Amino acid sequence: MADSTVPTARRAGLRRTLATALAGVLTAALATVTLSATAAQAADCSAGYVGLTYDDGPNPSNTTNLLNTLKANGLRATMFNIGQNAQNNPSLVRAQVDAGMWVGNHSWTHSHLTQLSSSQIQSELQQTQQTIQQATGSAPKLFRPPYGETNSTLKSIEQQLGLKEIIWDVDSQDWNGASTAQIVQAAGQLQNGQIILMHDQYATTVAAIPQIAANLRSRNLCAGMISPSTGRAVAPDGGGPVSPSPSNPQSPSPTPTLTPPPGPGGCTATMQTVNSWTGGFQSNVTVRAGSSAIRGWTVTWSWPGSQSISQLWGGLQSGSGSSVSVRNESWNGGLGASASTTFGFVANGTAATPTLTCSAS
Ligand SMILES: [Zn+2]
Repeated sequence: MADSTVPTARRAGLRRTLATALAGVLTAALATVTLSATAAQAADCSAGYVGLTYDDGPNPSNTTNLLNTLKANGLRATMFNIGQNAQNNPSLVRAQVDAGMWVGNHSWTHSHLTQLSSSQIQSELQQTQQTIQQATGSAPKLFRPPYGETNSTLKSIEQQLGLKEIIWDVDSQDWNGASTAQIVQAAGQLQNGQIILMHDQYATTVAAIPQIAANLRSRNLCAGMISPSTGRAVAPDGGGPVSPSPSNPQSPSPTPTLTPPPGPGGCTATMQTVNSWTGGFQSNVTVRAGSSAIRGWTVTWSWPGSQSISQLWGGLQSGSGSSVSVRNESWNGGLGASASTTFGFVANGTAATPTLTCSAS
């Protein structure tokens, strides 16, 4: 700007002089700019997201330190909790959520699930879902099998419960005596979308957090959430609506009902038992709009015995005793003519298929 008053011939000469003078410091100057930009912008996620995971908590001797250290370093992580630990430390489960962490299911007892019966596996997963839901208000969408051991029986139960199975791409080996430096080095291998296994248990693992944060920043990677639909690390807001339907985790994309319907149409509801075991069962209810679009729905029924719902997804429950009333969530109330949505539940008691009444609004 200042040289706009300098005659053109002199300007060209000045530029050559300046270029020569600047050439020697150019590389150093660029390096300085890059460094300060990195330090100043903690949120350059241009290279993508990785999933930090901490298993086996919550743990009274470690979880608070872990959460404080993650927060201090601007990191969010997924905590795969053992159900029994969650039951014994519900306030730590809430602290995980309050600290911005995502909470996953890591079975009730940390058994070798592939050696258990189908009903034992069911119980391991369900009890953990219920306990975490009671502590936090929402049931996990992610499941990590203990020891990474899985098979088709386990996978089918995960699917029935609306859980996405998450293993890992990088094992920090913290469980196997890895040093803090080795844990940091392992995290240094993470690429966009990948997930690292760590544990809510070891001082070495907590001590690695500041260097893991620095390493990710230096590579323009950020700590993200694990997508319940793809199982890959994504941006924290990339998850979509809150409650996946267990039979089809992708379905809760908001059902488009774009124009307000001219008037309330009718609806029908049908219940199907998808699984049952001693003392419990799981059912799906499909709600279908009639010949005109609807804005919301409520399904009611009466249990023939002492059944009670312990877990519900894709709908909101009210009512008490044997009378049940389930209305739509915000994202699945609107249905076009003849369109349908499904909610599901797990209940205690003997499987039953009562008569349903659907009212539309
Ligand atoms: Zn574990």
